[in-house]
Amino acid sequence: MMLTREYFFYLLIAWMALAVIIFPLLLRVTVPYGRHTKTTWGPTIPSRLGWFVMELPGIVVFSVLFFWGNVEKTWPLLFIYSTFMLHYVHRVFIFPLAIRSKGKRMPLVIVLLAFIFNLINGYFNGYWFGWLSVIYEISWLTDPRFMVGIILFFAGMYLNISSDYQLIQLRRGGRKGYFIPQKGLFKSVSSPNLLGEMVEWLGWALMSWCLPAASFALWTMANLVPRAIDHHRWYKTRFPDYPAHRTALIPWSLFRKKQGGS
Ligand code: NDP
Repeated sequence: MMLTREYFFYLLIAWMALAVIIFPLLLRVTVPYGRHTKTTWGPTIPSRLGWFVMELPGIVVFSVLFFWGNVEKTWPLLFIYSTFMLHYVHRVFIFPLAIRSKGKRMPLVIVLLAFIFNLINGYFNGYWFGWLSVIYEISWLTDPRFMVGIILFFAGMYLNISSDYQLIQLRRGGRKGYFIPQKGLFKSVSSPNLLGEMVEWLGWALMSWCLPAASFALWTMANLVPRAIDHHRWYKTRFPDYPAHRTALIPWSLFRKKQGGS
């Protein structure tokens, strides 16, 4: 759909407002996939297929609109595009194969909702960067917002992926079920992978300094803060010996150690 800048922003602000409305709802409803999967949410499909299908529009819609549009594809803009794709190529093609989720399923309705979410997000960002964006001059590469954004993006991506793989490794050797992760930032928080993903998209929003990217960061937080709280609650219920100092997302124990000088 071809839109003027004005209508684009109306729609985008409505989309961001929806994230703000949905956030408190997600604090009440546990989204049923992964460890929280339920059979009461209708038909299910294999988890691996679910991840592939629901994340794919992030790549396809963004890329088509991006390259179709006539905004000049300068180096900074191509870099912004490439960092987004780096995350999504991993998420769509590598992560689903890496997870040890043989036999696990997720509700089709969740896959459809996430598919729509990625479609809309791909549309807003692809349309913006392809058709409406300002031209990112080469000087943007040395702008502090771009440089700090890159650092946050890659730090977040490292934390996200390394933590995901620490979890995946817990089932090495054919082990099944769930275990208490003990490595890295898991010593302080229950979901460093989700924390990493949030930092990553905040960094991406900073490096591209535009509302569509900020909208994606906002939606990521609206999705992942409640999920991290659900994960944390689940660990405490499931494991009576779960470390009491661990928090859901913010590694307070790291700061406490520093304050105590130990
Ligand atoms: P989880 O931390 O729940 O799970 C990641 C993988 O590790 C799954 O394969 C899971 O298996 C396995 N796992 C998790 N905990 C344990 C454990 N204690 N013992 C053994 N195996 C374990 O991640 P999510 O499903 O919440 O998210 C997956 C990725 O998707 C994350 O990187 C997240 O950031 C991203 N994501 C991004 C969103 C966004 O809006 N941008 C929204 C949602 C997720 P199993 O599936 O069997 O539980």
